[in-house]
Amino acid sequence: MAMRMSTLFLRTLREDPADAELPGHKLLVRAGYVRRVAPGIYTWLPLGMRVLAKVEAIVREEMDRIGSQEVKFPALLPREPYEVTNRWTEYGENLFRLTDRKDADMLLGPTHEEMFCLTVKDMYSSYKDLPLALYQIQNKYRDEARPRAGILRGREFIMKDSYSFDVDSAGLQKAYDAHREAYIRIFNRLGFEYVIVHADSGAMGGSASEEFLAVSEYGEDTFVRDEHGYAANVEAVEVPQAPAVEVTAGPAHVEDTPNTPTIDTLVAALNERHPRTDGRSWTGADTLKNVIVMLVHPDGTREPLAIGLPGDREVDAKRLEAKVAPAEVEAFEEKDFAAYPMLAKGYIGPGVLGSEKASGIRYLLDPLVGEGSAWVTGADEHGKHVIDLVHGRDFTADGTIQAAELREGDVSPSGNGTLHLARGIEMGHIFQLGTKYAEALGLKVLDENGKLVTVTMGSYGVGVTRAVGVIAEDNLDDSGLIWPRNVSPADVHLVATGKDEEVFVKSEELVNTLEAAGIEVLFDDRRKVSPGVKFKDAELIGVPTIVIVGKGLADGVVEIKDRRSGERREVALDALLAEVQ
Ligand code: ATP
Ligand code: MG
Ligand code: MG
Ligand code: MG
Repeated sequence: MAMRMSTLFLRTLREDPADAELPGHKLLVRAGYVRRVAPGIYTWLPLGMRVLAKVEAIVREEMDRIGSQEVKFPALLPREPYEVTNRWTEYGENLFRLTDRKDADMLLGPTHEEMFCLTVKDMYSSYKDLPLALYQIQNKYRDEARPRAGILRGREFIMKDSYSFDVDSAGLQKAYDAHREAYIRIFNRLGFEYVIVHADSGAMGGSASEEFLAVSEYGEDTFVRDEHGYAANVEAVEVPQAPAVEVTAGPAHVEDTPNTPTIDTLVAALNERHPRTDGRSWTGADTLKNVIVMLVHPDGTREPLAIGLPGDREVDAKRLEAKVAPAEVEAFEEKDFAAYPMLAKGYIGPGVLGSEKASGIRYLLDPLVGEGSAWVTGADEHGKHVIDLVHGRDFTADGTIQAAELREGDVSPSGNGTLHLARGIEMGHIFQLGTKYAEALGLKVLDENGKLVTVTMGSYGVGVTRAVGVIAEDNLDDSGLIWPRNVSPADVHLVATGKDEEVFVKSEELVNTLEAAGIEVLFDDRRKVSPGVKFKDAELIGVPTIVIVGKGLADGVVEIKDRRSGERREVALDALLAEVQ
């Protein structure tokens, strides 16, 4: 049945909502798809429900296609299973917790590994029951610290989550691959540009976890990719852990360093101890731009600690909270940085070169190094200089050091290629869980030999409401939304204009004809609304094809407007169906 604007539960807004940040979000509210209830909590109105249903249908079709079966778990859950897997604690403040009238702890499910695992355990006991894949499309609850852009990061949101159950890792790999293919089909159909990235550092094997990121400037995830197809979430690129050292505050110590090595000796040491991977050698000491501070552990291993930026400010010895300790320094040019993979992954904080006043002075920074030691110096065109590290800026009181930002142009961890950075929004996540949950919750089956084996699981999520948000951000202009047809609330927005009763009669007929042919119509049948307002609403709502029925009727024509291109043309009444099919 056609939706009729005369009765549709809709009130379009001409003004942007005050609390909306992103253009698509503003339009979703203005065009009457969603309405905010509280931060990250939204009501879906009839138009929004239509889009949501289409996205869900695509997801459902692709999950059904790989033989996954739909179920629905409650969102309101008991604490115990989450206690067993430690997620009651691990989830921290993101978990919505509540108590029932008998004072039992409950939660609103943020994801459902535990519940699926337990249900399969209840019902199945043999390898013959497996493989199995189950999914649900269901509300999830996470008390996100920063709910964002309406439905992009909600506190209540809809996720499609699937779980696979297999007797062995070969089975798990097969299930994982099937889901990966299904996700590719889902995201191809949803029509936004996406990239599949490594989502963990590969400790569990190359593809143990991958994310599907929509490429978007609004993304909260940063990913890197090279020209050879390598792509990873920056969170997944292995970086050495910050040294677990305690910083003990103390007075700064300054002493003369007649034996400070020359840059030549530093460079020689670099070449010897850290030969470059690109066949070149470290050079350029006298045009030094940056200085890398190395942490030297007692066993001789080194970690990069800080990179010095010359000319930032003058050295102020009194500001250093440091104790005397043995130390060592290494230095090289900034442009060499990318070619040095260990540093490219290292912990780099902004140290600074000192001024001439500090020349010949050495700062010894025990707090930084704990069991190891570091020293810092460098040179620029004015001669030898000192770099200082500032407590609270370069390193923090608990000893953690800012993780290095991967940079545009860094060497790809894949070995060859150059990294490029971009932003993405996580739309899907596939994950080989292995036996983690099955182990904790005792999900075992008898294998062929009558031996109990722990089931191995995968979990796979798609952000369904988030997908609606991303599609909206990707498909809009100044006048409103522009839905891709396969997720649009209707295929055609038919606008009856003017006061002539004949227009409305004919429009009804056209709507019936289109609907009979399976075309979904949003029918603007309002009698007392001006054509201008109707057109504005049509642009705002964003159905991709707008049909205008009006004066042309006398000549047997209606007008078709393509919402995206703005192109308008007249077609004969009897050609309309074929034109919009
Ligand atoms: P993010 O990194 O964006 O916080 P996540 O890694 O916490 O997401 P998962 O636990 O992997 O999310 O959940 C599976 C999918 O659910 C995500 O890929 C994303 O599409 C969606 N999703 C997660 N959190 C939210 C949210 N707060 N609002 C809307 N969709 C979400
Ligand atoms: Mg999250
Ligand atoms: Mg994530
Ligand atoms: Mg994730």
